Amino acid sequence: MRWLLLLAMVPFSARADEPARLVEELLPRVIKVMGLPGPKHLTVKIVSREQAERWLRRDLDPDRQQRLGEALLAVGLLPPGTKLETLAPEFNAQNVSAFYDLRTHTLVLLADQPDEAQRPIVAHELAHAVQDANLALDAAMKARRHSEDATLAFTALLEGQAQATAALVMDQWLRDRHVTVEGMSGLLSDTAARSAAEAAARAPVPFLGLQLRFPYVAGRDLIAAVSTPDDPVGRFLLKAPPASTAQVMSPGAPAPLERELHLERLIPHAKKSISTTLGRANLELLGEELGVGWRGDRLEAVRVRGKPVVTWVIAFDTPAQAQQLARLVSGASSRGGNVVIASGAPEAVRDAALRLFPEPHLK
Ligand SMILES: [Zn+2]
Repeated sequence: MRWLLLLAMVPFSARADEPARLVEELLPRVIKVMGLPGPKHLTVKIVSREQAERWLRRDLDPDRQQRLGEALLAVGLLPPGTKLETLAPEFNAQNVSAFYDLRTHTLVLLADQPDEAQRPIVAHELAHAVQDANLALDAAMKARRHSEDATLAFTALLEGQAQATAALVMDQWLRDRHVTVEGMSGLLSDTAARSAAEAAARAPVPFLGLQLRFPYVAGRDLIAAVSTPDDPVGRFLLKAPPASTAQVMSPGAPAPLERELHLERLIPHAKKSISTTLGRANLELLGEELGVGWRGDRLEAVRVRGKPVVTWVIAFDTPAQAQQLARLVSGASSRGGNVVIASGAPEAVRDAALRLFPEPHLK
């Protein structure tokens, strides 16, 4: 992922000089709220929705999306027939209201947003620019490309923090104008979370809804949980970001166990397709609370003479948690704290998968 989206709020036409003026006005406020140095350079662009769609599409990897989609479908996280590689960019484009391009450090605003929405939008995007100046977000994102879970967790931190920053900046801006609304900052910080939840409810498949909702809703809760008067937007988390969605959902959760089965070495003529971690949040698409006790997982897919073979191994704290998941998913089996959900895998491979995560973590 090369950009951080902000979701659509509402429709108008912006005057061309407005964004530059807003950036100048808001950047010092954003820097002050976050307590971090600001960017040395920042480019701001206003584009049409069509231009934004082309921009976002340019950085997508449809081949990887297709391989991920095939694996998700095999383990029941996508309905049969879903083409993730076409649905995902369509869904993103429908919902974007602004974004920050990590590679070119460009704040991209959409011309079709209403006047009153631009100030909080710019404050939010400027928070990403400050994060970028302190953490080199493009490299940080690339370092997490091997894991859907780590990427979603990191995005939740970035979005939750940007939203909390925008809310505090807007609250202060209104106070300066002697407008005080009880609980204003809380109301504002809920705006993106609410837009995300609404957009997620309209998602063509639950998996895409979650990818949109989690960063804003769980990200908001994460920042609310760690914020203090000295560090209201959890700037310390940029130094120690959550490694998993489990850690976003409960900040005290242990570091995830990381293991790889290497299906391509276990099956003759197998060609590697994808290997990633899906995490607690994605696991809970199969059922709320099913991710309690999640300690790590590995989704791997290979193609054998063109046919997909997929295994998803999930490690839990206790055998009871593993059994609960295995009971609910047809074709799944468990041993100790491990569960395997597989498609097209020979018995010996399923057996190896059930031993993937060593058991000393068991409580
Ligand atoms: Zn954002």
